[in-house]
Amino acid sequence: METAVEKNRPAEVQQRAAFYIRVEKANESGYEAALTGLAHNKKQSLQKMGIVAERLSDKDGGHNKFLESIIVWLDVRAPRYWWQEADTFRLSTKQSESTMHTLTGELLAVNPEDPASMQTFLQQNFEPDSCSLDTLKEIYRAAERKDLVGVKKRLPEGFLQTRMWCMSYRTLRNIILQRRMHRLPHWKEFIRQTLSQLDHPELMPGFTE
Ligand SMILES: Cc1cc2nc3c(=O)[nH]c(=O)nc-3n(C[C@H](O)[C@H](O)[C@H](O)COP(=O)(O)OP(=O)(O)OC[C@H]3O[C@@H](n4cnc5c(N)ncnc54)[C@H](O)[C@@H]3O)c2cc1C
Repeated sequence: METAVEKNRPAEVQQRAAFYIRVEKANESGYEAALTGLAHNKKQSLQKMGIVAERLSDKDGGHNKFLESIIVWLDVRAPRYWWQEADTFRLSTKQSESTMHTLTGELLAVNPEDPASMQTFLQQNFEPDSCSLDTLKEIYRAAERKDLVGVKKRLPEGFLQTRMWCMSYRTLRNIILQRRMHRLPHWKEFIRQTLSQLDHPELMPGFTE
């Protein structure tokens, strides 16, 4: 039930509370090598290449190929319905957390008769309001009888999954261009969190929240 405090929060804050996405940059590499390549290409000294790179970064159609040499690894925790949209970007690679391990290992370690521990499991593994206690109990029972299909088909789309998403700056630029105005609020949040952690956000498209 909505409390008086929640009702008085601004709409934007309420919306943020209703969805979940967390991005942590795990690694980033290749800027110096990419600029060395650019210096070969331009027959100019490496010192000037930072400015040249910034100028070329939005010149698609061949001129910003150096962005493919800069790689970033993002550790992202997000609901599976968001991952379904993210999977449409093909020029990248991902390593996922196992849903089956979470549900058959971690869930079965919870006492289903203890509402508090079931609630904690819900909070840690699902977006707010995306899975009822009854649904979680059904998933629990399916996991208990080792019914893997029964577990999978009952799993709500708001189940949170962590994946390591590795991509080039070029792919990331393409994602930001396509998703910075997207209606699903996760995309703006993904972009905001990612840009705040990049070593070279100046090579990315403009973004206003
Ligand atoms: C508003 C909107 C609605 C959408 N709706 C749908 C939908 O209903 N269904 C759906 O399936 N998708 C949908 N998409 C996703 C869309 O079709 C693209 O798959 C997605 O946006 C990824 O874009 P991309 O191809 O530029 O990125 P990437 O897959 O990262 O590709 C980057 C570049 O590499 C090229 N490329 C990638 N793979 C190959 C290859 N094998 N051979 C040659 N070139 C390649 C691409 O053409 C592109 O230029 C939608 C996208 C938007 C923005």
